[in-house]
Amino acid sequence: MYDIIVIGAGPAGLAAASTAALEGLHVLVLDEYIKPGGRLLGQLYEEADGNWWNGIDESAKLYDQAIHAGVEILLQTAVHDMERHESSWFIYTEDVVFSSKQLLLATGAAESPLPIPGWTLPGVMSVGAAQVMTNVHRVKPGDRGIIIGVNVLSAAIAMELHLAGIDIAAMALPPLNRITTKHARPKEVVEALLHASYLAPSRLLRIGSKFMTNPFMRQLGITFYPKNGVTMWGVPIQLRKAVIEIYGTNQVEGVIVSTIDKDGNPIYGSEENIACDFVCIDGGLYPLTELAELAGCPFYYVNELGGYVPLHNEKMETPIEGLYVAGNITGIEGAKVAISQGIVAGYSMAIRSGKQGLADKLQDALNTVHDTRRQAAIQFHPKIELGRDIIQKQWEKYQSRLVQI
Ligand SMILES: Cc1cc2nc3c(=O)[nH]c(=O)nc-3n(C[C@H](O)[C@H](O)[C@H](O)COP(=O)(O)OP(=O)(O)OC[C@H]3O[C@@H](n4cnc5c(N)ncnc54)[C@H](O)[C@@H]3O)c2cc1C
Repeated sequence: MYDIIVIGAGPAGLAAASTAALEGLHVLVLDEYIKPGGRLLGQLYEEADGNWWNGIDESAKLYDQAIHAGVEILLQTAVHDMERHESSWFIYTEDVVFSSKQLLLATGAAESPLPIPGWTLPGVMSVGAAQVMTNVHRVKPGDRGIIIGVNVLSAAIAMELHLAGIDIAAMALPPLNRITTKHARPKEVVEALLHASYLAPSRLLRIGSKFMTNPFMRQLGITFYPKNGVTMWGVPIQLRKAVIEIYGTNQVEGVIVSTIDKDGNPIYGSEENIACDFVCIDGGLYPLTELAELAGCPFYYVNELGGYVPLHNEKMETPIEGLYVAGNITGIEGAKVAISQGIVAGYSMAIRSGKQGLADKLQDALNTVHDTRRQAAIQFHPKIELGRDIIQKQWEKYQSRLVQI
């Protein structure tokens, strides 16, 4: 019987485990992957202050901290079920059933696919897969690629592929259909992209993007966006072109792109071929919440957090006794926010275990989450603060309903 089991050895789970273990709790972390670090492992970018954020190094630091704090970590161990009996959690893995008094779900996020003709051909992958192949396993996804979907994540990953010496022929939008709408309309794409402008490789482009915060300039920018795109890190970024088909006989051989109008509709007769041997698709991220569903946690849909999220408060508690959540399962944000949420969850669980004198540390950790969010280099959703307010209000409503009952 552990005091705490954490599912997920990403930044949120490892930070929570170290925090709780340093307060004297017996903590086990379970993760299905072969390495600790979660999605942090694939990250590599230059921050606004010129320092490099290297996910492999950051993961190693978090892992070492956890081991030194006395945390047990079991990798290649997928959790597929859980139940609560008489104040204990029972966690089902393939070989062993583990038990704990408290449980933290830090399972992260998953990628949404975008259906595009030809997307089942070998050589088509999600951008996250290309990131893991390149930065974690040091395997080139191909010689010449196309990225479909222009957003904060694909922009960051295009830069990482470029740094690895992989030729990206273009980034372009997906074709407009009922599923792709927000990824296929240039205006909506520009809105979201402005939050990645710090990644722009020249000061001029960074300053240019500031002008685009004005709605009139934004419309003007889209209308006059060059038909051949703007080149960043040697990659042409096409906001007025959509990939309408991926083609090839036994594997990807190329894509057909069409020029689109400012609303995302194709202009017939403008089709052209681009040869490539791999294609990355980016349809955005959503919180990976299945285990919270199994635990019986109530859910809310909050667009600003990336989809359905388990109900939780800012101390990372859920309404289910002894169940906590932290990191991307609560909403899509960068790794630094996930770490700071993990520390909050660690203190919350330690306090619930009866550890005294932690109120100030918890308050400091809560303040750090807000500061980290405000300074975040990568912001997946421009209205993340609003999303956090919405879920906190839902929590308060839920609690006041419980009091009435
Ligand atoms: C494809 C992708 C690319 C990303 N790229 C970036 C980026 O470049 N920059 C950035 O700032 N953010 C990026 N993110 C966001 C990223 O999720 C956060 O930065 C951060 O890693 C979130 O931390 P986390 O601890 O919440 O989850 P994660 O880092 O995702 O860790 C979750 C862990 O839970 C484990 N897990 C999940 N389910 C189970 C289960 N049932 N049983 C056992 N283990 C389980 C997973 O194996 C994983 O190790 C990316 C996310 C994704 C999905």
